[in-house]
Amino acid sequence: MFTIKKYVVVDSLEEAYKLNQSRKANILGGLLWMKMGKKTIQTAIDLSNLGLDKIEENEECFEIGAMVRLRDLEIHEELNKYFNNAIKDCVKSIVGVQFRNCATVGGSIFSRFGFSDPLTCLLALDSYVKLYKGGVIPMKEFVNMPYDNDILEKVIIKKDNRKISYMSHRNISTDFPVLTCAVSKLEDKFEVAVGARPQKAALVLDEENILSSEPTKEEIEKFVDYVESKLTFGSNMRASKEFRSHLCKVLIKRCINEVGGM
Ligand SMILES: Cc1cc2nc3c(=O)[nH]c(=O)nc-3n(C[C@H](O)[C@H](O)[C@H](O)COP(=O)(O)OP(=O)(O)OC[C@H]3O[C@@H](n4cnc5c(N)ncnc54)[C@H](O)[C@@H]3O)c2cc1C
Repeated sequence: MFTIKKYVVVDSLEEAYKLNQSRKANILGGLLWMKMGKKTIQTAIDLSNLGLDKIEENEECFEIGAMVRLRDLEIHEELNKYFNNAIKDCVKSIVGVQFRNCATVGGSIFSRFGFSDPLTCLLALDSYVKLYKGGVIPMKEFVNMPYDNDILEKVIIKKDNRKISYMSHRNISTDFPVLTCAVSKLEDKFEVAVGARPQKAALVLDEENILSSEPTKEEIEKFVDYVESKLTFGSNMRASKEFRSHLCKVLIKRCINEVGGM
């Protein structure tokens, strides 16, 4: 259980940012993660009056507000049509519908959890976070940035026509994932993001041009070995590092087959 001393529904991001500079203040997302802790929060900052609960689409990108719920991502037709249902696939196994109706994009992405399904998926897309003070930052940079007191305003995903496939493995449905994997293909270039290793998601590019635009079985075998060699895996109560490393190859192959392999 946690304790909130003062609850403020802010009228602007500037007000939220100023309040959030105190060490004992916290931005509120859906509170699902925070309620697991035992913290005393001096000032709880509620962003729900700021219109950040919308998914907007224009010619170039999708813009997803911090207060958008994971369930909104799951059922958004245009977003899922554009990204081959990968957005839906990356959230559909997170606990249950009621949970996903509460958990927010802001809480999920700002936290950069090692086990994060959506972070893995977004890393394999041309995606960015917009931080109130920090501005627009590519997801691949943001994932490794230190935690600070900025505010995640929105996530931006560029519409660059890439194909993407997302898969995860769980020991039992609704549990945390044992491994998360996303493969995207833009023209003839493949990118792979692997998370829950159990470290947070990392992106591997085909820098040695192992895969052709329609990769053969041999190319795929060589590529999965290459990706595996670039990543580290660890053991925890859910799986050993050996199992994760084996699973990594299996999921990458399946994802490549979905985005256009043999
Ligand atoms: C039991 C359980 C199981 C889960 N299983 C999975 C899973 O299998 N896969 C998966 O990917 N995730 C999983 N999650 C994580 C979940 O999906 C959410 O990511 C998590 O609950 C955080 O979202 P929230 O909206 O609840 O954030 P909160 O709990 O409200 O906030 C989390 C943190 O983010 C900060 N924050 C919130 N919004 C912002 C913002 N806009 N700007 C800056 N900081 C912000 C808060 O101050 C806090 O420090 C699980 C969580 C729980 C509790």
